[in-house]
Amino acid sequence: MKEDDEMVTLPLFGGCACGQVRYRLDALPGDTGYCHCRTCQRCAAAPAVPWAMVPAQALHYLSGDVGIFRSSAHGERRFCRDCGTYLEYREQGYAEIGLSSVTLDHPEWFPPQKHIWFASRVPWFEPADDLPRFDQGE
Ligand SMILES: [Zn+2]
Ligand SMILES: [Zn+2]
Repeated sequence: MKEDDEMVTLPLFGGCACGQVRYRLDALPGDTGYCHCRTCQRCAAAPAVPWAMVPAQALHYLSGDVGIFRSSAHGERRFCRDCGTYLEYREQGYAEIGLSSVTLDHPEWFPPQKHIWFASRVPWFEPADDLPRFDQGE
């Protein structure tokens, strides 16, 4: 993911805006991207959400009050109950979580590599990159 790997050491850490929620990540993120779906937009109050796929077993919450919002029959979003930071998306039956990668202490290590659900992009938000763009999930 990051080309200059000498600075990246496990575990990784991250957390929410108010600092109550902290987590430890024991694996390097895999796939990364921006999600432009309407649910992510609303959860984050932002035009797109940068995410990184991580093994569910590798993500450990260390502190804070993590809330769960069931956004569909099979999907849920987790957030800090104190400040509202949108932390992750997970889906029943999947071993990986879509972590909101900006909540990592070093989001610069894991740049997004594509855009998904680009069909629901907010029209005034035009990314200035040449990453692949997928109308739906990929
Ligand atoms: Zn918080
Ligand atoms: Zn989304």
